[in-house]
Amino acid sequence: MSDTHPVQALLFDYGGVIAEEGFASGLMALATEQALRVNLLDEGMQKHDSFVRLRFYAELNDFLLPWQQQTNFHQRFEQTPSVKDLIESVGIPHTEIRLILVDSKPVDFNYAVKHKDHISIYPAFKRLDISTISKTQPSPLSTLSFVLDTHLGKLARHLRMLGLDTAYKNDFNDEELAHISACERRIRLTRDRNLLKRKVIEHGYFVRETDAVAQLKDIVLHFRLKHKIQPFSRCIVCNGQLRRIDKKRIQHQLHPMTRQHYEDFKQCKNCGKVYWKGSHYVKMNTTLSTILSET
Ligand SMILES: [Zn+2]
Repeated sequence: MSDTHPVQALLFDYGGVIAEEGFASGLMALATEQALRVNLLDEGMQKHDSFVRLRFYAELNDFLLPWQQQTNFHQRFEQTPSVKDLIESVGIPHTEIRLILVDSKPVDFNYAVKHKDHISIYPAFKRLDISTISKTQPSPLSTLSFVLDTHLGKLARHLRMLGLDTAYKNDFNDEELAHISACERRIRLTRDRNLLKRKVIEHGYFVRETDAVAQLKDIVLHFRLKHKIQPFSRCIVCNGQLRRIDKKRIQHQLHPMTRQHYEDFKQCKNCGKVYWKGSHYVKMNTTLSTILSET
């Protein structure tokens, strides 16, 4: 291994335990990339065009056209774009990317693309710590919190149900959302990939699913939230924190049937909304159990 590049050495070190999607094939690609010669002319490509060879791994393929998925393909470029701009021109927001290798060496987003570069692009690794080699990792967050686009209201309620700090209003405009994400260091969740390409957004995630429960499951898995959640600790309406409250203090607000059948209550510190373990709680608990058993 003495003449192996450090990145390749690291990959080989992990070779015995890698089950990461795409990573085994990434290993093969790395080992053979330097021996391969670029196929000069893809269909329609002219001799004088500048081009690079791209390969995207794992879930980054979700953003690609079918013919670009799980394979190497050539991408033309003009002048000297940064690798970030080139990758985003293919349709992948920078927030989804955790490692870029150019001819097997890690580069940052500002790397100026050169003719015939072989570029491999990876998303977050689920089990492998690449912080020592990656040059595209965003600065770490001290706390995990989210801000959601206006069309993700149901997901916002589900995240709050898990006790996750979730900023959401159905009338936030794009400027406000970008500002909140940047200033409050919240992870922006959106179904619009173009909004994640904004430079000001450092932490973001493209929500792939359309069903709110499937979305929640995907987010719990992606951000490894299973052991961080505190169900029913946050107000679903306003994101405020809940505290236990003596029934005597709020019983005048309760419906007679609720007053008769329930003893334990919580109240939002922010908006005053009162919660108890009624039918809504049972329904949410069922959703929660399903998610936790499947993640
Ligand atoms: Zn509230």
